[in-house]
Amino acid sequence: MALYDKPAHELHDLLVKREISAADLTRDVLARLDATEKEVGAYLTVLPEAAMAQAESVDKKIAAGEDIAFFEGIPGAVKDNICTKGIRTTCASKILENFVPPYDATVMTRLAKESPVIVGKANLDEFAMGGSTENSAYQTTHNPWDTARVPGGSSGGSAAAVAAGSAVWALGSDTGGSIRQPASFCGVVGLKPTYGRVSRYGLVAYASSLDQIGPVTRDVTDCAHLLNAIAGHDPMDSTSSPAEAPDFTAALKNDVKGLRIGLPAEYFVKGIDADVEKAVRAAIKQLESLGAEVTEISLPHTEYAIAAYYLIAPAEAATNLERYDGVSYGARVDGADVVELMTNTRSQKFGAEVKRRIMIGNYALSAGYYDAYYLKALKVRTLIQQDFTDAFQKVDVIAAPTAPTPAYKIGEMIADPLQMYLQDICTVPLNLAGLPGISVPCGYSAQGLPIGLQIIGRPFDETTVLRTAYAYEQSQSFHNDMARLGGARA
Ligand code: GLN
Repeated sequence: MALYDKPAHELHDLLVKREISAADLTRDVLARLDATEKEVGAYLTVLPEAAMAQAESVDKKIAAGEDIAFFEGIPGAVKDNICTKGIRTTCASKILENFVPPYDATVMTRLAKESPVIVGKANLDEFAMGGSTENSAYQTTHNPWDTARVPGGSSGGSAAAVAAGSAVWALGSDTGGSIRQPASFCGVVGLKPTYGRVSRYGLVAYASSLDQIGPVTRDVTDCAHLLNAIAGHDPMDSTSSPAEAPDFTAALKNDVKGLRIGLPAEYFVKGIDADVEKAVRAAIKQLESLGAEVTEISLPHTEYAIAAYYLIAPAEAATNLERYDGVSYGARVDGADVVELMTNTRSQKFGAEVKRRIMIGNYALSAGYYDAYYLKALKVRTLIQQDFTDAFQKVDVIAAPTAPTPAYKIGEMIADPLQMYLQDICTVPLNLAGLPGISVPCGYSAQGLPIGLQIIGRPFDETTVLRTAYAYEQSQSFHNDMARLGGARA
């Protein structure tokens, strides 16, 4: 097994035992990147020199007999909407083509305490708007399991890099499913933390009441460690919870006896792929055989979640994206006067999907429509939250598919935005309610494409989510499968 195949916890042990060096590991991951990146296209920026320099400094520390942190010397990728000081951060948009942040996002300063190796910045849908990375202004990322297919999105670059072996871990962001759905499509683990658990300071805003940064990893153990590294209160984010983050690795104890799991009928929607339903139901049976108690529950307002999300998220996006005016921020396309300058800049530098959402958002917020659309959507959001509050009176976690289908073909959906939006049915309710959720690999479609099981928890109960995911993961071996480039698993 090559080094790039291994999860961070195994690599950490090998580093501690001095069986490998951080330089060897980084070289191995960079070589894998060279071998796969042409086909996969996970990265917008690659930092080989900085990565090697960082690895060598970790090796010096190890040679000096110093202790190392969990991610110390372990190569990973950062979604390109997370600000990295001195490293270009584009959000996969032409409007931020030359933006080099003068500061680090809080997740980066926290992570820096563990001295990981940063391989580069991962591709995404422009401003995280999308579910396939086809909306990137630079390149489409390809799914390493079948390069004719999308990796999901918007954190498609992050998930594809971890699946392909060109990163051991990655950071993504999730506003309506953007960590969990690509994790599901790429056969890796992805967790959206509770809203407020991880600081959003330095995450370029898409929809501020929904956005969260979270881990994308090979397995649940790495996921808990990465969440440990980034979670906790941050005075720089007024929505960050003052609650202290627990040690999430306490969840890794392989025990779900007596755990009550709810199965929401509404998530096994009409049009759900038969292989997805089969794999997810089999995974839930497996959890039952491990001692969990499974009951049917109802989340009756689920059918309104997409409509509410696609009003609230664009409304917030329209507001957040006002700052890209060509005057104070980002790229500028000149014009005869300031109005023309702004018009030229925004019409030439934003992509089609971003413009579509700005228009939807401004329409929903405009006088005369505000009550009918935006306010109504906020009321639906409250009903969806209430559905979950009611359900969590009876169960400890909720299990469901992460996405209604496995990865689809590049180009298959892009011409039909509504069809694309419907794909988010299983993921957006959690963002609307602020809840934590994980996607963990639970099998393959007949075509050999990965399928993800989603586990949803109470607010700030990532521990039970991780515990459930870990017990399931340890009972099978899907997390040991690496993506086969260019052709799905037979
Ligand atoms: N697919 C969803 C959207 O297009 C989710 C995006 C996200 O979570 N950033 O908005």
